[in-house]
Amino acid sequence: MHPTSPAQFEASQAGAIPEPERVRDDVWALAQRMPGGYLPYSLLYLLRDSDGAFHVIDPGWNSPENWATVTDVLGTLGASVADVRSITATHLHPDHIGLAARLREASGAPLQLHETEAVAIGSPFETPADANATALQLDAWGVPNVRRAEILRVTHQASRFVPPATDRTLVDGERLDIPGFDLCAMLTPGHTSGHLCLRDDERSLLFTGDHLLPMMYAGLGLGAPSDTNPLADYLTSLERVSGYPDHEVLPGHGYRFQGVVDRAAETAEHHRRRSREVATVLADAPDSSTWQIASRLTWSAGWPKLEDFLLYSALAQTEMHRDYLASTVVGS
Ligand SMILES: [Zn+2]
Repeated sequence: MHPTSPAQFEASQAGAIPEPERVRDDVWALAQRMPGGYLPYSLLYLLRDSDGAFHVIDPGWNSPENWATVTDVLGTLGASVADVRSITATHLHPDHIGLAARLREASGAPLQLHETEAVAIGSPFETPADANATALQLDAWGVPNVRRAEILRVTHQASRFVPPATDRTLVDGERLDIPGFDLCAMLTPGHTSGHLCLRDDERSLLFTGDHLLPMMYAGLGLGAPSDTNPLADYLTSLERVSGYPDHEVLPGHGYRFQGVVDRAAETAEHHRRRSREVATVLADAPDSSTWQIASRLTWSAGWPKLEDFLLYSALAQTEMHRDYLASTVVGS
């Protein structure tokens, strides 16, 4: 894997925000700031079609500053928000789709997602029943009483995000209606169950959202509940994007890069290693709770430092590996 944008790479390493930049004649990348300090920015992609109109992929977090970034860049290109014709989101997370409602309202452009993701958006995460379900899940995971409040707070906050209405749904293999582009939707479940990558074979571009990232391994199973194991789905989705070895990857965070095959292999190995680690803990102590397993795994921040969302995510990932192990034999 090697970065294809030195500016994005350097900003990513320094925790800074890169300037908007041109990726191809008619494709731009805009860094959109994120609150919270966990990741500094997401990447919005702006496409100019052969009629001179614009199309947005992953608008980013909803903030006045991010709105100004989009309108400023459109302005420098001699256009305005009224020239936006479509908004496509790779998945339903607020750092990708948050600004979509404002953009949709101002431009009249339809918002589109994969049909699975659109259904998930239509069902609120937090109802009284869901709050109960979260509490029961924490019981099942063996979360100590002193740590329950912070996790319940996180899941409640996540539920306060009101996703925008979806106008169109996309299916796997569908060509997006963008004149001058042959952009194909690829269903890549794992990070969320309806996550989409977008592929442009003519320009050799692969928009990967949070499916494949250069500087971190995104969590899995972070969307609507699925009947299938997110890790099993994810490993298949990684193989899928590996079928385009010469495409430049335009990810949802970090920096663009070449080398999708290597990065997908590293990412798969990261998750397989984690499964083996969970298997080792279970071999030693088969009755461990999810909390007990997670506390014995290696975490880059260190287990004692995991708090709030990161703690919730760590427990959810541990549970997913445990399920995966129960349903398959993990190779060494
Ligand atoms: Zn995401």
